[in-house]
Amino acid sequence: MPYSYDPQNIFARILRGEIPNKTVAETPHSLAFHDIRPHAPVHILVIPKGPYVTLDHFSETASAEELADFWRLAARVAREAGVIEAEGGTGYRAIANAGGHSHQEVPHFHLHILGGRPLGALLPPAG
Ligand code: 5GP
Repeated sequence: MPYSYDPQNIFARILRGEIPNKTVAETPHSLAFHDIRPHAPVHILVIPKGPYVTLDHFSETASAEELADFWRLAARVAREAGVIEAEGGTGYRAIANAGGHSHQEVPHFHLHILGGRPLGALLPPAG
C-alpha cells in the first residue's frame, strides 16, 4: 500500500501555524514541541517538516539533509532536557508509533522523547 499523507493532520496544521504549540526548538527541516498530554515530566515530540507518515516512510525517502537535521535535533532536545545519562541525566526513551497496532494517533512521523521519571518496562510481556 503506498503512503498517503493527510495534509489536514494535526501536526501538519501545527507546522502551518494554524494551531499553537509550545516549541522547544526549530531547525530548517524539523520542529520539536511539548506533547499536549505529557506522560512524563519530559515529553517532547520531534517531527520533520516534510510530509512523512511513519518512521519507515521518513527513513527511506527523506533526503540526507532532512535525516541528519531530524536525528541531530532529537539528540539536542534530549541534551537540553537534561536526560542524557552520560551527561548526568537519568536516561530517556524514544518511541515512534507507526500504524494500527502501535496506536499511532497522528499520521505525521514523530518521535516521542520521554524522561524525568522511571518509565517502567517498554511493554507488558506477550502472552
Ligand atoms: P501517537 O499516538 O501518534 O504516537 O502520538 C501522538 C501524540 O500527539 C500524543 O502523545 C498526543 O498527546 C499528541 N498530540 C495530539 N494532538 C496534539 C496537539 O494538538 N498538540 C500537541 N502538542 N500534541 C498533540
